[in-house]
Amino acid sequence: MKGQIRILIDLQRCDIQIGEIQTKKEEGPLRIQGLMEELKVLEEQFEEKLNRLEACKRDKRGAEQEIEDLESRVVKSGIKLDNVKSNKEYQAALKEIDDLKREKSLLEDTAIEIMEEIEELEAQCSVGKENIEEFREKVKQDREEAARELKALEGDLEILQKERTQFCQAVDEELLKRYNSLRKNSWRVAVSPVIKGVCQTCHMGIPTQKFNELIKGDGLMTCPNCLRIIYWGEDKQLQAEASSL
Ligand SMILES: [Zn+2]
Repeated sequence: MKGQIRILIDLQRCDIQIGEIQTKKEEGPLRIQGLMEELKVLEEQFEEKLNRLEACKRDKRGAEQEIEDLESRVVKSGIKLDNVKSNKEYQAALKEIDDLKREKSLLEDTAIEIMEEIEELEAQCSVGKENIEEFREKVKQDREEAARELKALEGDLEILQKERTQFCQAVDEELLKRYNSLRKNSWRVAVSPVIKGVCQTCHMGIPTQKFNELIKGDGLMTCPNCLRIIYWGEDKQLQAEASSL
């Protein structure tokens, strides 16, 4: 029976490693997915700033055009001022010039504000572009690293799966069935050591008589509490022997 238990211990170690590798295999793609999402946010922010910059440039051209129009209207009103016939007309022309100049001055202020925003946006866009390029490079490198990692993991997995097949072939069919169903239903632990009378998986004590039987190691035993297959964890023989397949 000890030989069979030894193989089950090895099979379980193999299965635990396979599970760990399968989890690790998912980590790389998940990490890349996270980075891609981060990159997308950066790109969207950059695009938004770029659009805003274009809009500002359009506004600036519009304001400049309007300023030019107002300037020519001021000139025309000046000519009108030279040709007025009455004081009333004179006052009206003066007021018109004042109004135009005030409007122009307001627009000039607006144009300055727009130019300041353009400068700031241009600086932000330049930094944003650099950040995105750096980030893309990082994603590229991480992708390559993840691919290398995956290849190594698949190599390890292949070796473990071959080992697993060998262990399965060496275990009694009924015992293997029991092992597999226990693994499925018992949080992936089917075989548990018992040390100083305590099951190391569910941490419950085993009755003394049962523990003594376990130390003898004659038959297959299960933990009365968690129903896992148990073995004596301090058994030097079990610890030293690797299953010889
Ligand atoms: Zn137990």
